[in-house]
Amino acid sequence: MLPSRIVIVGAGQAAAAAIDTLRRKGFTGAIALVGEEDSCPYQRPPLSKKYLAGALAHERLLIRPPHFYTEHAIEMHLGRRVTRIDRAAQRICLDDGTALPYDELLLATGSRPRALSAPGADLPGVHFLRTVKDVEAIRGDCARARHVVIVGGGYIGLEVAATCRELGLDTTVLEMADRTMNRVTCPEVSAFVQAEHARHGVNIVCNMRVRAIAADASSGRARAVICEDGTEYRADLVVVGVGVAPADEVASAAGLDCANGITVDEFCRTSDPRILAAGDCCIHPSPHYGRRVRLESVDNAFEQGTSAALSLLGTPAVHDKVPWFWSDQYDLKLIIVGLNHGYDTLVMRGAPAQRSFSVCYLANGELVAVDTVNSAKDQMAARKLIAARARPSLDKLADPNLPLRECL
Ligand SMILES: Cc1cc2nc3c(=O)[nH]c(=O)nc-3n(C[C@H](O)[C@H](O)[C@H](O)COP(=O)(O)OP(=O)(O)OC[C@H]3O[C@@H](n4cnc5c(N)ncnc54)[C@H](O)[C@@H]3O)c2cc1C
Repeated sequence: MLPSRIVIVGAGQAAAAAIDTLRRKGFTGAIALVGEEDSCPYQRPPLSKKYLAGALAHERLLIRPPHFYTEHAIEMHLGRRVTRIDRAAQRICLDDGTALPYDELLLATGSRPRALSAPGADLPGVHFLRTVKDVEAIRGDCARARHVVIVGGGYIGLEVAATCRELGLDTTVLEMADRTMNRVTCPEVSAFVQAEHARHGVNIVCNMRVRAIAADASSGRARAVICEDGTEYRADLVVVGVGVAPADEVASAAGLDCANGITVDEFCRTSDPRILAAGDCCIHPSPHYGRRVRLESVDNAFEQGTSAALSLLGTPAVHDKVPWFWSDQYDLKLIIVGLNHGYDTLVMRGAPAQRSFSVCYLANGELVAVDTVNSAKDQMAARKLIAARARPSLDKLADPNLPLRECL
């Protein structure tokens, strides 16, 4: 039997996909959406790119215009945080004391920036980047800043670096590992991206751990980032991008199984049959890769939001698409298809010097992931080959003139 009332917690990408699917598939029951930000669901990727640069209006971030939710009879509770799930009574409690009953609950609470554990990390002028409000605060400081230090050389840090450089700021990235983006890509792609940043005048310093952020004696604002080796980097603006953690605290407090995210099955069901979870907040089994994964991408939030809605409608479908992720830095479009974890062979297609190339990752002869840089055509073929567990010929793969789809 279909639920008569679905409550969705977290008004982000996964929630938007779930609402879309539920209404498009004809669900006529009540849907309530609770979100702690005071905005309708919006896209986060432009936050570190065009929106930070001031080149995109706020309305363009919205996944659906506000009237969509009225027209589709969505009961909106924006600017409200869920503080507790009462599983026995099947209701959630909001921070203003309201209690909302549910037949089925979908948790789509996303993730939160990891804190920087260094003295001075809470000074004015030090920012994290997750929400529109964060960007507005950064933009305010950008207007009077000359020297920005970005702590963390992952995607977000590097995208912010590219944007700040384009805004004319003196930009330094401090990364504690020996290379940037080390969690997601190979040393060859890291080296290429770092060289591009250097060419644009960004100072990337690896193997550098932050010890503290020092304050200016008169203004009390951040003045410099001080590293473990004693080096000081001048900074009137600091952006911290040291990764995110799943927002699973309410789920965990309610006794749902959590382990680096809310544990779900391949249909987005949690350990409580009345509760589902989707997006950055959860960890799911990937039949393709044969292990549990927690992904932080728009694609995953969209796929899982859709999959959770199908489960709610009683028509479950296994969520097992090949994941993909993109990053834009300057005129570079980096697209990562699949997960390269455990690869034993790496094949370059094309030369980084041409600024358009791909890197293929294989494990025991099977293609498991492909990174493409300004090479969209390889990206589409990669998704199909990885999904089909293709075992391409290495010689053919290495020939950039041969389309990837013909490399079998
Ligand atoms: C700056 C930036 C750039 C990015 N760039 C890319 C990119 O280029 N490509 C890509 O694929 N991905 C990118 N991502 C990642 C992508 O945006 C996320 O993976 C995606 O938004 C996850 O969707 P979600 O629905 O799981 O969570 P979110 O979209 O984060 O939504 C979760 C919402 O739940 C709310 N919430 C949390 N707890 C509660 C509670 N207790 N009560 C009420 N509400 C709550 C949060 O405030 C938030 O609004 C980027 C992310 C950021 C921050």
